[in-house]
Amino acid sequence: MREIKHFIDGEFVTSRSGKTFPNINPATGGQIGIVHEAGRDEVDAAVGAARAALKGEWGRMPVADRMALLHKVADGINARFDEFLEAECLDTGKPGGLARHIDIPRGAANFKIFADLVKNVPTESFMLDTPDGKGALNYAVRQPKGVIAVISPWNLPLLLMTWKVGPALACGNTVVVKPSEETPTTTTLLGEVMNDAGMPRGVFNVVHGFGPNSAGEFLTTNKKVDGITFTGETRTGSAILKATADNITHVSFELGGKNPALVFADCDMEAAVDGTLRSAFANCGQVCLGTERVYVERSIYEEFLARLKAGAEGMKLGAWDDPDTNMGPLISKEHQEKVLSYYELAVEEGATVVTGGGVPDMSGDLAGGSWVQPTIWTGLSETDRVVKEEIFGPCCHVRPFDSEEEGVNTANDTEYGLAAAIWTQDATRAHRVAAQVDAGIVWVNSWFLRDLRTPFGGMKASGIGREGGVHSLEFYTELKNVCLKL
Ligand code: NAD
Repeated sequence: MREIKHFIDGEFVTSRSGKTFPNINPATGGQIGIVHEAGRDEVDAAVGAARAALKGEWGRMPVADRMALLHKVADGINARFDEFLEAECLDTGKPGGLARHIDIPRGAANFKIFADLVKNVPTESFMLDTPDGKGALNYAVRQPKGVIAVISPWNLPLLLMTWKVGPALACGNTVVVKPSEETPTTTTLLGEVMNDAGMPRGVFNVVHGFGPNSAGEFLTTNKKVDGITFTGETRTGSAILKATADNITHVSFELGGKNPALVFADCDMEAAVDGTLRSAFANCGQVCLGTERVYVERSIYEEFLARLKAGAEGMKLGAWDDPDTNMGPLISKEHQEKVLSYYELAVEEGATVVTGGGVPDMSGDLAGGSWVQPTIWTGLSETDRVVKEEIFGPCCHVRPFDSEEEGVNTANDTEYGLAAAIWTQDATRAHRVAAQVDAGIVWVNSWFLRDLRTPFGGMKASGIGREGGVHSLEFYTELKNVCLKL
């Protein structure tokens, strides 16, 4: 059983309070580790170490050396690829094939991509006329924001954490990470990689624990934190925003979604079905960008639904290290209860259950896991809670539409605005509809294709700000103008 400690100022430490909590494998329900829970003391120590590191070797390090160090961190993850893979799969239960292609390689790549990107971003300069005719030169410089708190979720633990830590460090900040209490392991392993790469002490710190009255709250209310970058539920974002009000701490938020797919009659049917199967069911539906509302043009509705049903029923639920598995469990018993409560609610609200709707029979060790069936509903109204609220499970509601205008209006009838998918072979329609859909990212004939140079974030209740590419600099640096009278 693995003992998971905090990583503060380059060292692995336990909590003064002696408080711990179990780390559970959601595929079996069995305990795989014991995690130390940070109190205010550990959080303050981590923030203090991060502040001190800003003034030390890290703060003085030439940019080229900083970037080389981040490349070494990425190489360090890749050198221990199988260890990271197993840790991520045991914490989440996700299929090994998925983590092998997405979580671990992209988690490592985040360090290289942002290191390469940040060093080439220009700033502006302006000459100003002055009455004495000599003028003044304005130039903008970027400096690190300072200590960044990174609060990350459990669905793509390494990937979503390094998506924040990579640019934060590339910009010269130091970080204190609070990974999700459900998935503490890969963030902790990263501490070892940082030390092996020669990262100065205090640049990367990790504290474990929960949100309210635990590490999360202690971190978000710490006055010495300069910025908080958070990925998680909209409700949690709201709590963090309240907690930061007194300190006016800067925030960048990537929050929840209730993402639509619009499937037009002129789509490539096979691509649309395959894409929607992925967007609704990948990672057991626990992807913020996943599709929970599918709108299909009426003339192809029956065929699309039949194919989607067949695809869902062909999913193989199983152990992470079984190469045939393409769906794992939900993250926890608590989340399983939440998703199953929506499965019940859907029936109460009058849904037709096209497939799924319950708990699958799993045998052996897996019988104790947090499994649910991939589920498709039809027949709900657009005001029903199942169609309005983010469920974050392997489920979607499918509904026909008759006109492009109706499709767009129903897609937009949500408090969220994170992602959307459009399936059509008509390029004019694709542009027209993409322009009208209120979402931070709109995919046409694809899903989850991510170019890290592009802006990423949510409209409406799905977030505050954009990260990715040069946009990450907006949050991770302070832009300062220097006005020099000549
Ligand atoms: P969550 O909000 O429950 O937890 C996220 C993190 O916040 C965890 O580390 C948790 O411990 C911490 N936390 C909880 N309460 C806190 C508080 N009061 N103060 C400080 N920290 C607190 O989210 P989750 O269940 O881990 O993740 C799933 C959610 O994340 C879904 O809503 C999903 O849509 C969203 N998500 C969004 C994106 C995106 O890019 N927009 C990406 C992935 C997940």
